[in-house]
Amino acid sequence: MATNAQVRTGTPVVQGIALGPVVRPAPGIDLGELPGPRTDAEGEKQRYADAVAAVSERLRARARAATGVAAEVLLAQVALVGDKGLRKSAARLIDAGAGAEQAMDGAAGQFVEMFTKLGGLMAERTTDLCDLRSRVIAELLGRPEPGVPSPDVPSVLMADDLAPADTATLDPATTIALVTRLGGPTSHTAIIARQLGVPCIVAAPVGDIPAGTTVLVDGGSGTITIDPDPAEAQALIARDRATRAAAAAFTGPGGTQDGHRVQVLANVQDGPSAERARRGAAEGVGLFRSELAFLGRDHEPTVEQQSEVYGAVLRAFEGRKVVIRTLDAGSDKPMKFANLAHEDNPALGVRGSRLAVANPGLMSRQLDAIADAAARTAQSPWVMAPMIATAAEAADFARQVRERSLTPGVMVEIPSAALRARELLQHVDFLSIGTNDLSQYTMAADRLSADLAELTDPWQPAVLQLIEMTARAGAEAGKPVGVCGEAAADAMLACVLVGLGVTSLSMAASAVGTVGAAVAGVSLEQCRRAAGAALEAASPAAARAGAAEALGR
Ligand code: PEP
Ligand code: MG
Repeated sequence: MATNAQVRTGTPVVQGIALGPVVRPAPGIDLGELPGPRTDAEGEKQRYADAVAAVSERLRARARAATGVAAEVLLAQVALVGDKGLRKSAARLIDAGAGAEQAMDGAAGQFVEMFTKLGGLMAERTTDLCDLRSRVIAELLGRPEPGVPSPDVPSVLMADDLAPADTATLDPATTIALVTRLGGPTSHTAIIARQLGVPCIVAAPVGDIPAGTTVLVDGGSGTITIDPDPAEAQALIARDRATRAAAAAFTGPGGTQDGHRVQVLANVQDGPSAERARRGAAEGVGLFRSELAFLGRDHEPTVEQQSEVYGAVLRAFEGRKVVIRTLDAGSDKPMKFANLAHEDNPALGVRGSRLAVANPGLMSRQLDAIADAAARTAQSPWVMAPMIATAAEAADFARQVRERSLTPGVMVEIPSAALRARELLQHVDFLSIGTNDLSQYTMAADRLSADLAELTDPWQPAVLQLIEMTARAGAEAGKPVGVCGEAAADAMLACVLVGLGVTSLSMAASAVGTVGAAVAGVSLEQCRRAAGAALEAASPAAARAGAAEALGR
């Protein structure tokens, strides 16, 4: 992260330009000044219950006013604040003499510690829990609810981190960008920003920028410029408007200005998200993250239940390409019914297709369900396995998929898979590069860590080199090689990927227009020059600069 007086750099999450004054959330509650011990335990438990009920009701009302992911996120907050475990911890503290405020603080603290130890997605929920703690304590103290202001003029919301209760009901007309000091590319802030379609940067050193300061946020490069030159800022905004208009006008199919075909596909997680993606310009589904459809389950869904979900996605994209990924359980996506109880290092553990070694039935039942859904819908999905490290693993997976008359492929997420892409392609019909994990494993840097965001940047030349090797192997074998990690959603990087030889790009449905239009605006030769410049670069920043020049940006 670069820090100088005028320009700060964080991790870019959602592209776009915004210019406006900074607004910041109201300060939280001072936890050092909570009222001391109380003796009326029953009375304190009642106060605690009343405060939780009041906070839940407020969140529920906001959920009713919101839609889609925002509503889901708020309802998850309602469930968390009313959680039985939290209530029991608080009751125990009250029985030991704590007041309701101290009990909330202590109980939430215990859970924060537990979530932090669990790591991954659970660790990202600590922000949610801290937010709920402040809300309940404010209610108990009779103070106004902490949270974000509703600005009168279009403003840039800047904070340490944002809780779902804050972000879910934001109005993109007045909150024109989000910038946080903490948070990773998969935090709630990032998810909501994608849904709102406002530029977003996380893990940015902006703690000292006061409210009221005018800033220019560039969600593409991850830069925040303090008091920018007005003329330059206006020029950038005009260009951004043109980019957005081109994105809105993009209807596909994907390809460069000079007719080189590149499929532009959507990443989905269940039937409803596939339906939504279908309404846009996506030509098909490049990544159906099947595990996300079953994430909260204690027990493995039956073949029939799975077939139902897969069928819904296939129906949404009838007659189109759909790539279903087998369960990628583990690490940042732990699943009770699939994963080992404990692993010291789950990112390097038994995750994804590695689960099939100890539990081959899990994979074969899923493939049966996919084959059943394919037969019922008369579709021919492609099926790929995550976390493949060797050609032997690819061969074993391909055999099982072909036995069911489906088309096999594997993901390239581990450097060994990229290095041996040619051997993998002797067994499978396609490869799909998962740049999120490929960056994590190439750079040995946790993809969820805000501190390591520069290392896990997919613009790292080492990552680009592995992508180039994989795409070259695909071209030699005459087989498609796509990219389905977040890198494909970065409009400029998408052009670089095309130049590296990638044949399809799959991304969050909200990015399809922007990426499709960006690729359509340049020639294959420009993409190749951008790819060459990025590969030659010494750092992600230099790679971006070299590519920008080649693409005339
Ligand atoms: C990836 O690793 O890039 C990928 C697409 O898979 P996931 O993000 O679900 O791990
Ligand atoms: Mg992955």
